[in-house]
Amino acid sequence: MSHAGTDKINLLDMSTDKMKAFLQQRGEKPFRATQLIKWLHQYLVDDLDQMTNISKAMRASLAEIAEIRLPEVVLDKASADGTHKWVLRLADGNCIETVYIPEADRGTLCVSSQVGCALACTFCSTARQGFNRNLTVSEIIGQLWIARKTLQPDPNANRVISNVVMMGMGEPLLNLDNVIDAMSLMLDDNAYGLSKRRVTLSTSGIIPAMDRLRERIDVSLAVSLHGSNDALRDVLVPINQKYPIKELIAACHRFLEGKAAREHITMEYVMLDGVNDSDEHAHELIHVLKGLSVKVNLIPFNPFPETLYKRSSNNRIHRFYEILANAGMIVTTRKTRGDDIDAACGQLAGEVQDRSRRKIHFARLEQETA
Ligand code: SAH
Repeated sequence: MSHAGTDKINLLDMSTDKMKAFLQQRGEKPFRATQLIKWLHQYLVDDLDQMTNISKAMRASLAEIAEIRLPEVVLDKASADGTHKWVLRLADGNCIETVYIPEADRGTLCVSSQVGCALACTFCSTARQGFNRNLTVSEIIGQLWIARKTLQPDPNANRVISNVVMMGMGEPLLNLDNVIDAMSLMLDDNAYGLSKRRVTLSTSGIIPAMDRLRERIDVSLAVSLHGSNDALRDVLVPINQKYPIKELIAACHRFLEGKAAREHITMEYVMLDGVNDSDEHAHELIHVLKGLSVKVNLIPFNPFPETLYKRSSNNRIHRFYEILANAGMIVTTRKTRGDDIDAACGQLAGEVQDRSRRKIHFARLEQETA
C-alpha cells in the first residue's frame, strides 16, 4: 500500500462509470470494470497482484500507470460505548476524521467530505479549523474502505456498516462531483451495496447544489436548520444570509418530488442553551416546517474548547421535543456518542493546514464577545 503522492492514477478515485470509461480507452472489455470495482470495494484488496481473475498482462500494464492509494491511518481509537474514530493522514499531510457509531439495529459511519470547512457555523468546531481543500473520491470512499476493512474484513459476514452519513468534516455540497462519485460507489451492488435510504448527505443548505444533487443521485437528505428564523439562523449558520430559510424550504420541497429515497428530509436542530431552545422557537419551527415531510432530529450541543455556547438542559430538550411531537411532527433526539474520544457531532477537527482566514475570524469573534 502506498501513501505518498505520486503521479499515477489512483484506481480508488473512480466510480464504476469512470472505471468503465478508463478501461474502454485502454481497449479492455466493460466487465473488467466490474471485476476491478469488486476487488477494490467488495473484497477490499489494495494490491493488483491479488486480483486473480485479471490476467497478469493486464495487471502489469495497469501497474505502469495506476495504483491503489489509501489515506494512512494515524489513529484508530475505540470509545467505551463502541464508537470508533479514525484519524487519517492524506498524502499532503492534512488529517481528517471518520467516526463509526454502532447501535442496536444499525451501524453508521460518519464520513468527511473536505479538509476543514469553508463555512463558519458558530457552534461547530470543524469551522474553527479553517479550510484547506476538497477531498478526492479516493479520500472519501477510502474512509469507508478503511472502516470496513477494520470492522468487517469478510465481505460475506453480516454487514457491520449499514448506514453512511456525510456528516463528518466539511460541507459535502461544496464538493459535489467527488461526493456524488463516492456515494455512487456506496450504493453500487458491486461495491458497498448500501441502500439509498441508508446513505444520507447532510448540508447547511447550499440551495443550487441541492437541486443538482437531486438530479444526479438518489440518496437521503438531512438539512442543518438549527434556527427557526432568519435573524437567528444568520448567526448560527451564516450561509443563511445567502440562502435564507424560505428559499431553503422551497428547495426541500423540490428535493422530495419524485424519488424513492425521498420520503422525508431530516431537519437537524442543535440545542443551544438560551439561544434557540425556547417554547417560542419550537412553535416557530412548527410553522416554518408546515407542509413539508420532515423528521426533526434534535442534537444536544457538543461543547468543545473555547466555544461560546452551552448545551440545553435535558428538561429543556424534552420540553422542546414535546411541543413538536404534540403538533404531530416526527421527532428524535440524537444520543450523544463517542464524546469521550472527541468523536461527537461538531467535535471533529482533524489537523487542517488552514488556507482560509477562518482561525483569524474566530479569534476576532472571541475578542469581540469577551
Ligand atoms: N456541513 C454539513 C455536514 C456537517 S454534519 C452540514 O452542515 O450539515 C454535522 C452535523 O452536526 C450538522 O448538523 C452540524 O450542524 C452539527 N453540529 C456541528 N457542530 C455541532 C456541535 N458542536 N454539537 C452538535 N452538533 C453539531
